[in-house]
Amino acid sequence: MTTNQTPIYITTPLYYVNDELHIGHATTTIYADTLARFWRAAGRPVLFLTGSDEHGQNIFDIAKKNGTDPKSFADKIVGKFFELWDALDITYDVFIRTTDEFHEHSVQELFKRLKQREFVYKDTYRGLYCVKCETYKTDKDLVNGLCPQHQIPPVKVEEDNYFFKLSAFTEKLQQMIGDGTGRIQPPSRANEILGKLREGLNDVSISRTKFDWGVRMPGDESHVIWVWFDALINYISALGWPDSEGLPTRAIEGRARHDAPTPVGFAPFPHWWPHSIHLVGKEILWHHSVVWWSMLMGAGVEPPKGVFAHAWWTVEGQKMSKTIGNVIKPLEYAQKYSRDALRYYVLRAGPTKEDADWRQADFITKYNSDLANGLGNLVNRALNMLHKYFEGRVPAECSFDEASLEGSRQGLITLVNGLEKKLLDRVAAYDLSDALEAVWEIVRKANQFVDESKPFKLAKDPTRAKDLAASMYAVCEVCRVLGAAIDPFLPDTARRIREQLGLRDGSLLEGVGLTQMIARLEGQPQRSKQPAAQVLLRESLRWGLLKPNHQVGKPEPLFVRIESEPST
Ligand SMILES: [Zn+2]
Repeated sequence: MTTNQTPIYITTPLYYVNDELHIGHATTTIYADTLARFWRAAGRPVLFLTGSDEHGQNIFDIAKKNGTDPKSFADKIVGKFFELWDALDITYDVFIRTTDEFHEHSVQELFKRLKQREFVYKDTYRGLYCVKCETYKTDKDLVNGLCPQHQIPPVKVEEDNYFFKLSAFTEKLQQMIGDGTGRIQPPSRANEILGKLREGLNDVSISRTKFDWGVRMPGDESHVIWVWFDALINYISALGWPDSEGLPTRAIEGRARHDAPTPVGFAPFPHWWPHSIHLVGKEILWHHSVVWWSMLMGAGVEPPKGVFAHAWWTVEGQKMSKTIGNVIKPLEYAQKYSRDALRYYVLRAGPTKEDADWRQADFITKYNSDLANGLGNLVNRALNMLHKYFEGRVPAECSFDEASLEGSRQGLITLVNGLEKKLLDRVAAYDLSDALEAVWEIVRKANQFVDESKPFKLAKDPTRAKDLAASMYAVCEVCRVLGAAIDPFLPDTARRIREQLGLRDGSLLEGVGLTQMIARLEGQPQRSKQPAAQVLLRESLRWGLLKPNHQVGKPEPLFVRIESEPST
């Protein structure tokens, strides 16, 4: 099977440094990380960017309240971002901060180009501004005079501002979204944007004079550039636009997890742009489609290929808020239940197209039934039985003498051989929950297969030795496939399965590890941090790669059942 070899540039929003990150931020980032890991494993060139948004009045005010300066305040919060992403093992390639000098340079350059092309003009702004959104509001945007998202009244501002001629792009945007060149996912969100476009676009003020925490306006230093305008540009400044000086990776304080994955001899910007997918929460889709695409078109830069706006979590049926005190903290979950348990719940039950409700009881149920009793139990009993009946050595693959069992075995083989296509299709459509369902269909079928073929009974009957071997090979081979298939979703668990199966670097395909082999063929730099056992999906999801006589390791429970916990 040939996989799509187009580069893919996956981004999260730059998270605002006004506060610590909650489950909403972790959800976007886990989605992005899963996509990045999946497409890497599928052999596609991937660049994964995240970072921090550090300018604006909000940060200026909070820093002052905390008796510090904005940069020191940002440094402190950014430290917590790193802590969280390390704890969740997020494999971003680049972490950008909007206070990075190269970024500020790109922002000023884009502004200059818009001005040259007459998409920027100066005028007096009179109106409303929500400091928490860092966005201008009209009366239409308010509910009972308050910002509906933050429940605070917007402040009245009147100042001489630079304006961006957003209104000039209305028709172009409608056309792009209509014909799919500007792809907004899911389609229901595209319709929301089209609806708002039909109401017409106002020009937006893109400068402020009341505080100085931001990128200076070139040619008019009394203004700083609107924080959203500044932050959105990160997606191209991170690629070195416009000078193509190269990716800001290891050069900056060791902030990148990997060496830059841009192939040798390619400039980063033309290599990765516009093959990007911006993952965002639905509340910032407007900025990431209408505003961002217009800014790029105005400056003569091609807009990105797509944006995926996911919905929101509620918590036990309520809006998640600091006031209610029900904010879900991802680090606490990772520490208490393991990061894969957190990833599983987010990927399986999280808000993609529709809002999703975070329910603790559901978290525990899914953990116990899918992870502990489903996957964990399967791997554990497969390995225990293999040790008991075959001294931990995989028997040669064979068929059952008994027809109905052979039918079940063939059913498993068919499911396994169909998995790659299902994963490719579902991940390409951002249906990560459905992708996991394709994996768990196999987990359930394999557990049924063990119950049905009863190796423990076959082992007692010497005339059924062949059926015992048929059963054990099939179960172990399913475990091997699962150890590869879940790697992008639950990387720790996948690694532990492979370790327990005794699979080391290259052992699946003999000799050199496939990842290194392909990297060499493509002239790409090797990724020292990438687990060597991560072989490409299309190679590892084929049935029948486990070699006869292969010695497996010691079984260890993958997930300990959560018996009960006091309700909080
Ligand atoms: Zn607001």
